[in-house]
Amino acid sequence: MNPLYARMGTTIFEAMSARARETGAINLGQGFADGRGPEAVLQAAAKAVLEKSNQYPPMIGLPELRGAVADHYARHQALNLAAEEVVVTSGATEALAAAIFACVSPGDEVICFQPLYDAYVPLIRQAGGVPKFVRLSPPEWKIDKAALEAAVSSKTRVLLLNNPLNPAATMCGADELAMLADFCVSHDLTAICDEVWEHVTFDGARHLPLIGFPGMRERTVKIGSAGKIFALTGFKVGWICAAPALARVISKAHQFLTFTTPPNLQWAVAEGLATQDAWVQEARHRFQHGRDRLRAGLEGAGFAVLPSAATYFLSVDLTASGISLDDVSFANKLIDEAGVASIPVSAFYAEDAVTNVLRFCFVKEDATLDAAITRIAEARGRLAG
Ligand code: PMP
Ligand code: GLN
Repeated sequence: MNPLYARMGTTIFEAMSARARETGAINLGQGFADGRGPEAVLQAAAKAVLEKSNQYPPMIGLPELRGAVADHYARHQALNLAAEEVVVTSGATEALAAAIFACVSPGDEVICFQPLYDAYVPLIRQAGGVPKFVRLSPPEWKIDKAALEAAVSSKTRVLLLNNPLNPAATMCGADELAMLADFCVSHDLTAICDEVWEHVTFDGARHLPLIGFPGMRERTVKIGSAGKIFALTGFKVGWICAAPALARVISKAHQFLTFTTPPNLQWAVAEGLATQDAWVQEARHRFQHGRDRLRAGLEGAGFAVLPSAATYFLSVDLTASGISLDDVSFANKLIDEAGVASIPVSAFYAEDAVTNVLRFCFVKEDATLDAAITRIAEARGRLAG
């Protein structure tokens, strides 16, 4: 057996959701929204399964969806992608795997930022690559240029960036992205950009894609996910966008990961990208309302809440909240004694973890958030550790 997997635990998201299901806890752990998503997308998926082909679609994706992705980014991010530069994948997770397998050869070093999404390190290692970590820490989670320069070597081939960043809920500004673009160009790196949270941004701020910065058009793999755009995480429809030479090689990795993605869901997402801009905008407001409600509730219960500019998440700083327990112990107590599931942020570090931050998902009905806040506030005294 491969020791990489033999020694590995189940992802924190699955583990916490399983415990929430078993115990009946309110699940503010794994990131998924209450609600059904846009009705037009659901109708299109149902209609397509009954009325269109359910046989293998083209390996690189339905032309309708590849075109819709290119149009979507022209409209929202002023990018000039051709449909040929889009490869449809089974979620961003598969897009990440295909991009990493296509861009990383054994011995290559990959710069990634901690906290990082838990799939990154196993995928880099499976490719034979060596992750080199740049550590970000709360409350700013800022990228330090000197730390970045210290992580690069003659073996570095790829920079892997998650922007907006889960779980920090931060979003890179133009200056930071310009610095990263310069860095990639000067060290001749490919950038793999996990931008699944690109539309879940708050307070009027908008996501900027690294691929749009000088020198990056030919060396960036941009990854998106319909699961996040339409709050339909079970759809698992994602894509990569990259210049033709890169996209072609990534499609070769994709063809032996999943080969393709259910055609009805691809049609539905194409329909959604073409027609649901208003839904996406309305969802942003709804999610921002949930963020503000949870933040106010947690602050009222005596927690120090970190800012959230994007994603489905906000975090509390346990130390600043006067809690001496580490994040894992506190998350365990919270689920056992208050009946609320969360995610300890240390799970997003491969080494040298930040252990005093806990993540909560706020894209829930008001009643669910209020019930969670009541439970947490009621248990606050007992939980302080
Ligand atoms: N990357 C990041 C940063 C994520 O947060 C997630 C899931 N929330 C994914 C990738 C996976 O996306 P998908 O469900 O489309 O595979
Ligand atoms: N990305 C989701 C989160 O951060 C979880 C995805 C998963 O469960 N694999 O909560």
